[in-house]
Amino acid sequence: MPADNKQGETMTNLSRRGVLAGLAAAPILTASPEQSAAQAAGPRWTPQQAQAALKDAKGTKLVLLGTAAGPVPGRTREMTSHVMLSNGAAYVLDCGMGVTNQFARTGIPFNALNSIFITHHHADHNIEYGPLLIVGWIQGVKNGVKAFGPPPLKQMTDDLMRAYKQTVDFWAEDFHMTPLTEVKVQEVAAVGPVMQDDNVKVSAIVVEHPPVKPALAYRFDFKDRSIAFSGDTAPLHAVAEMAKGADVLVHETMYVPAVEKYIKGQIAQGRPVKFEAFMEHMKADHSPSEDVGRIAQEAGVKTLVLSHLTPAIDSITDETWREPVAKYFKGEIIVGKDLMVV
Ligand SMILES: [Zn+2]
Ligand SMILES: [Zn+2]
Repeated sequence: MPADNKQGETMTNLSRRGVLAGLAAAPILTASPEQSAAQAAGPRWTPQQAQAALKDAKGTKLVLLGTAAGPVPGRTREMTSHVMLSNGAAYVLDCGMGVTNQFARTGIPFNALNSIFITHHHADHNIEYGPLLIVGWIQGVKNGVKAFGPPPLKQMTDDLMRAYKQTVDFWAEDFHMTPLTEVKVQEVAAVGPVMQDDNVKVSAIVVEHPPVKPALAYRFDFKDRSIAFSGDTAPLHAVAEMAKGADVLVHETMYVPAVEKYIKGQIAQGRPVKFEAFMEHMKADHSPSEDVGRIAQEAGVKTLVLSHLTPAIDSITDETWREPVAKYFKGEIIVGKDLMVV
């Protein structure tokens, strides 16, 4: 997946910090002028902004923990992860690298973690599943935490628990804690209902992300709000069907001109990949901006969040992300930022 962490962009972000710090003083509510300013200010919200937005929140909130596509370290955006907070319970969707730190930055206590959902087994969606559980347990995650995702999630969880048993046991002995032994895993491999509790009803569909099978999209129907996630997928009518009438659709988004420019640059530097073959792969697996707009319009969602941004480079402006989508989708469009509260 494309990456770009050029020094120049890092410097730009440093200079943006002053702007963000100024905004942090004001509580951020949905669609407020402060939020619009934060949108324009860079790829991240500050932890203070996120915490203020959650503190003032009425009802269910979604925090975008990581908004970058691909398992590439060292960028300003983290790999894909989200948390939804409803009635004091936290539901994490995807565990790209960075999920544990970002979760902590929201100020949501670890003992609020109710369930983890994995869309598919690519590293940018699952690599920090184990650390979230184990570091999370040290910080308060309870035995009995639930996990949902495609096979072999059960085996992966068992293997992780076995690999870290000694580590967990040392800590439990030292601090007189009950060791983390119980993660309730339920594998999800087909369309249908996933789980239901007092806060939410969750369902899944299978999406198109070859060669990954199954790759899932999820829909969360909370009492006050419905939030759907495309996961990683080629443009799919089924995603529009799943997201029908939802308040929020978080859809992966690929800005094709920038991907083309990026890969041409890589090839010029000697990366052994053919341009046509690379773009063919990208189009078979991911959703160009225009299609994301069409799908959101067909679904009739109120708000579309562009995330899992491809390429995840900071030089692409919010307006550039928004423009091809807005040709087709007439609702609210939010360009995802790390730690943004929606
Ligand atoms: Zn991905
Ligand atoms: Zn993927």
